[in-house]
Amino acid sequence: MGKRARRRRREAAAKPAAAAKPTILQFPHGEDPVLHVEIAPDTTPEDLALVHRYWDLTTYGWRYKVRELGSTLTVLNTVTARSRAFLLSVECSLCGEPVGIANRSAGTVLAGPALSEPRATGLCPDCQDHHTAAKEQQQRLAAEHAVLEKQKAQEAEKELRARVTAWTTREREVPCDSRTVNGNAELILLLALAERARAGRSKPLPALSSLENGWTGDLERDAKALSSLREQGLLVVDSQSPLSAFQLGDSGGLMYVPAEVLWNLKLDPDATIDLVANTCVRRATATGQQSATEIAALARLVTTLEATHVIDYLNSLLTKKYGYPPAPEAREVELFDTIVDGITGGYTAGQMIAIVWRAADSAAGWKERNARMGPAEASSATVTMVRKKLDDARERRQPVPEYEPPRWMAVPAALGAARQVLEAVEGPRRRDRIMACGQCDVNGFFSQEVDGREVASRCLHIPTARRSDDDHLPADLG
Ligand SMILES: [Zn+2]
Ligand SMILES: [Zn+2]
Repeated sequence: MGKRARRRRREAAAKPAAAAKPTILQFPHGEDPVLHVEIAPDTTPEDLALVHRYWDLTTYGWRYKVRELGSTLTVLNTVTARSRAFLLSVECSLCGEPVGIANRSAGTVLAGPALSEPRATGLCPDCQDHHTAAKEQQQRLAAEHAVLEKQKAQEAEKELRARVTAWTTREREVPCDSRTVNGNAELILLLALAERARAGRSKPLPALSSLENGWTGDLERDAKALSSLREQGLLVVDSQSPLSAFQLGDSGGLMYVPAEVLWNLKLDPDATIDLVANTCVRRATATGQQSATEIAALARLVTTLEATHVIDYLNSLLTKKYGYPPAPEAREVELFDTIVDGITGGYTAGQMIAIVWRAADSAAGWKERNARMGPAEASSATVTMVRKKLDDARERRQPVPEYEPPRWMAVPAALGAARQVLEAVEGPRRRDRIMACGQCDVNGFFSQEVDGREVASRCLHIPTARRSDDDHLPADLG
């Protein structure tokens, strides 16, 4: 207890209560009071008596129970309104003055039932006020800081949005002078995007990351093809793309994430499809080693797409229908090679779906008959079975039916476009087409007179009736 403080309180208590001065009481009566009470000067004698009894402390504790004094609420209201109490036994932890207490229980918490054993530290009313004000100031500053930060973030966002709008507008306004499409994945993706745009008209094309299996089933390949199409001037980034798809580089340059932005075709959908069709015709009729290599790469890409689709179907079948794990990772390459073997050997993806369905069915039947065989072994056995079923089908030369994948299966978004492009580019070189066509030689060429010279051109085997009104467009792309 602060000596100075105690003396001051005692001196205050010794003075006679003058008009407009508070009534001072100290408890317990005697040598060493621990509680100092000040009662407002204009308090009625009844209230003064009540407040006195409320705070009356003996060396053993409170003289009266609160309920002996009247209704608890009335007592506490009167005490709060008419008196201020201080603990002489507990000093303010900041200035050493006696701490204030609002009621008896606050005193008990700080100094025990007789208010004589300090148990906790507290603050005097002045320091409490000061502390509260400081805390409020701190909170106000923190709130102001947060508002400032938010404004800064909003401004940065606004600036980024303005940069994006300016950039996308600039890109959109550059005229398109592309006469052909470079790259196989690019050709397929552009057709898929144009068909999507034709179905949805004014809406921007979706972000790659929002498609379940991407466009071709390989996000990295798709992202690369999308940027390449933008560089070729055939696609533009949509200005309404989410801001999270952009960032400013160290030197202030605007960068975009190809998988996250929305897209628009540079040309309208029909003109884009025409461009794809013309590119296909040019590739189909090109001669020389380079074009042959390019066509082989296209065929490999489309076969990969088909095989990935069949494997996705098989894995869905294993996990969803049978409750097995997907085909083991260690045998993925083997499974892929088997399916590619089937497709390049002449089976369609639909027929391969029938073959893997039979394989899974056989493996499941085998597991039924072998109690010791677990689900993982059944999945692995399915891979073996796919090879066996494929070889069987070939050996017996039995026709394999075409199965449609079930509706719940997500088909790679560009699979249909890939089939059309392959058909348009590679179709004219297929032996059966050449044999069935009456207009070309055994190698698929026909002769034409150009500037007085005989020139051999690759035939597209388009029936004469169609050729007159729809010059060179392959039927599927028209
Ligand atoms: Zn203080
Ligand atoms: Zn022909």
